[in-house]
Amino acid sequence: MDNCLFCKIIAGDIPSKKIYEDDDLLAFHDISPQAPVHFLVIPKKHFANVMETKPEDSALLGKLLHKAQELLAEQGCAEKGGRFVINCKSDGMQTVEHVHLHVLGGRTLGWPPG
Ligand code: AMP
Ligand code: ZN
Repeated sequence: MDNCLFCKIIAGDIPSKKIYEDDDLLAFHDISPQAPVHFLVIPKKHFANVMETKPEDSALLGKLLHKAQELLAEQGCAEKGGRFVINCKSDGMQTVEHVHLHVLGGRTLGWPPG
């Protein structure tokens, strides 16, 4: 997708600190980490936000979620867990319009969100 930051990262036009990649997914460290562990998992297929995904994308989204929990465990958070967040549109404070799952861990996170 033209002009999409994360599509440019997928294409390798913008560098990222990659954690994992396969034909469908890419995971990389967030540039502005909010916890000791903070990475993003994205589908290579472009969706502007999670509300644009369809039932036929269920397998891809399930794969993304399972890879995310596997990677969080690999980052040393298997015992204490963490948080999986998808911000959506303006009320969700989404800033990059390519679906991404935030995965955070390594400290106790506050709740509810501000
Ligand atoms: P959101 O506000 O949910 O759309 O999250 C977008 C996230 O992308 C933020 O946490 C940013 O810090 C992160 N981000 C923006 N640009 C980059 C980049 N070039 N590499 C890695 N993470 C980025
Ligand atoms: Zn994109």
